[in-house]
Amino acid sequence: MTEAQRIDGKAFADSLRGRLTQEVAALKRDHGLTPGLAVILVGEDPASQIYVRNKGLQTEACGMLSVTHRLSATTPQAELVALVEALNADATIHGILVQLPLPDSFDSDAVIAAIDPAKDVDGLHVVNAGLLATNQPALTPCTPLGSMLLLKDALGDLTGLHAVVIGRSNLVGKPIAQLLLQANCTVTMAHSRTRDLAALCRQADILVAAVGRPEMVRGDWIKPGATVIDVGINRVPARDPALAAEGKTRVVGDVAFDEAVKVAGQITPVPGGVGPMTIACLLQNTVTAAKRIAKI
Ligand code: NDP
Repeated sequence: MTEAQRIDGKAFADSLRGRLTQEVAALKRDHGLTPGLAVILVGEDPASQIYVRNKGLQTEACGMLSVTHRLSATTPQAELVALVEALNADATIHGILVQLPLPDSFDSDAVIAAIDPAKDVDGLHVVNAGLLATNQPALTPCTPLGSMLLLKDALGDLTGLHAVVIGRSNLVGKPIAQLLLQANCTVTMAHSRTRDLAALCRQADILVAAVGRPEMVRGDWIKPGATVIDVGINRVPARDPALAAEGKTRVVGDVAFDEAVKVAGQITPVPGGVGPMTIACLLQNTVTAAKRIAKI
């Protein structure tokens, strides 16, 4: 039996960053414009610290300006909002990202609402969500954008395909569904209240899993030959019981890869699939925002 083709998100992200590096060099040379990204990290969450460090390193590696603001978890909300407003007014900054999740004491919606929509490179402001929903040029959330780039590269024209998206978050599920709709797919959105999810998934030409439940989607949920995009990032105990006993972990997706790879036509692995695309698309959104602000 032939196995599904692996969709190599790492290679795609590497080449996207290469193209962006060239574009940034051209913007500097021809327009004196250096795109700038400001990331705000509140609190000490270890995973967020790693993401923020990687974002900063990759932004600089592309030739862009990278600024990171680290605030303590006890910072008053008004101070965080004042920082966002100062960055809105800063002409050297074209993209503002507030690393989520914020500590519980913060009102995330209010903080996101304070970001200038033109600089909202995470695409989470209601203005950008509305633009996306009405097919107008928006800053689109990075993971959905990255998933779509991989899908279009793998399949070309998506017209008429039935896409099932499991998950309806504002960050992932909903914007992916909007993008699939824009690409002329017939889209079904599933969530925790969906009945007979497995049977629904078996109808999908494209199956997107954005759930946050390790290996929930089994091989027999997948239509033979379907394209599977696994957005999930879940940390589970290491396979080796001795290592697991030492607290060692591994990362798995929302899809049982070993089963799915025997049924699907194409599939994103975890790690190495959608994950690497997220930061690459953040850099792309920052370049897009800088060009729109500078009217280039
Ligand atoms: P959320 O927790 O915000 O949303 C999860 C969604 O899954 C909800 O809509 C929920 O339904 C649905 N769901 C939960 N349980 C089930 C179930 N048993 N059956 C069907 N649907 C279910 O998560 P996110 O959207 O933020 O993230 C989803 C996954 O993607 C996570 O693993 C996360 O780590 C990963 N992720 C990966 C990124 C990357 O860079 N690759 C970036 C962002 C996220 P309901 O609405 O009914 O509760």
